[in-house]
Amino acid sequence: MNLFDLLSKQITQSDLLNYYNATVVYKSLPFLVDGFVTNYKDINVIVINNELSTYMKKKTILHELSHIELCHLGQQDKELLQFKVKKYEDEADKYIKFLLEQIQEQKKR
Ligand SMILES: [Zn+2]
Repeated sequence: MNLFDLLSKQITQSDLLNYYNATVVYKSLPFLVDGFVTNYKDINVIVINNELSTYMKKKTILHELSHIELCHLGQQDKELLQFKVKKYEDEADKYIKFLLEQIQEQKKR
């Protein structure tokens, strides 16, 4: 089970959240912060800015899930992810783009 399955609608978001032992919480965050992911007592907590539109909330959840899937959480001081490490940010966004392209390709076949 992974993001590919979610993006190609074979599973639901809550399936994937369960699989990654992850939960989503909505909070008031500084204006420029869409969200972040952190690990608390072995639970991946995805924190989303509650001011975002529904579309941006969904998009940000996918982005944070890709950090989990790409194992960005263990590779650095966890605090750092909150401050958007550019290398990981690019990688997370590219990963979603790549998966969506794969799905588009599959549809063509
Ligand atoms: Zn990020």
